[in-house]
Amino acid sequence: MKPRILVVEDETHLAQGLKYNLEAEGYKVTLVDSGTTAVKLLESDSHAYDLLILDLMLPGMSGYSVCERLRELDDALPVLILSARSLAEDRTRGFDVGANQYLTKPFDLDELLARVRNLLRLNARRDAAIKPKPLSTKVTEVSFGRAVVNFETYQVTVDGRDVKLTHKELSLLRYFVENQGRVISRQELLTEVWDVSGEMQTRSVDQFLLRLRKTFETDPANPKHFLTIRDVGYRFVANPSESTDLDPSAETDRKTG
Ligand code: CA
Repeated sequence: MKPRILVVEDETHLAQGLKYNLEAEGYKVTLVDSGTTAVKLLESDSHAYDLLILDLMLPGMSGYSVCERLRELDDALPVLILSARSLAEDRTRGFDVGANQYLTKPFDLDELLARVRNLLRLNARRDAAIKPKPLSTKVTEVSFGRAVVNFETYQVTVDGRDVKLTHKELSLLRYFVENQGRVISRQELLTEVWDVSGEMQTRSVDQFLLRLRKTFETDPANPKHFLTIRDVGYRFVANPSESTDLDPSAETDRKTG
């Protein structure tokens, strides 16, 4: 599996450059431009990433606060701070909130990549020590709500009636099932289900979601299984009544920043 890097950077040009260069090295990159979005993703599942690259000066929530919050959740995810702040006190504060490395902008690309490799090796040891919850990659049949889906025979029924899904719709559904409960970004779906990376085509993900809701939800306008997580992506919940451990406020349209 490709190492997964969450990049938090609000300067679009720099963010795109980082993504391009990291992907060229074979990493899977998730790009977000605000601290609040980063915290949402990390709160949802910090084990979805192997490394966090973090800018400090961000609109709303600072990189320091992001790192502090992360350390409450996960003290092992490696963090590389990438910042224009070059004072010793900034670096000190960065390390105090739990960063592993600090690189000052403008930076040398080779040095950045070397530090990334270094931190990912650190993370490999962390994963060997604490095994994250394994994904059930061998799901063949699943039932949720009124639906029963068999991923091997492609047989899908809702209320006992056969339903036709396209191959892509089934692949998307399968990805949701295998990652149930976790917030999944549109970008991740594009990379994992469509096998394309880049910012474009996230709309087509939304179209597929509408179709899944139309097929499986009792009330597609008020989904219980295929939830929208505002500003981030989607979350699949097989048994809505059993998901009381999840924060219901995550689904509300609260303002961020
Ligand atoms: Ca910035």
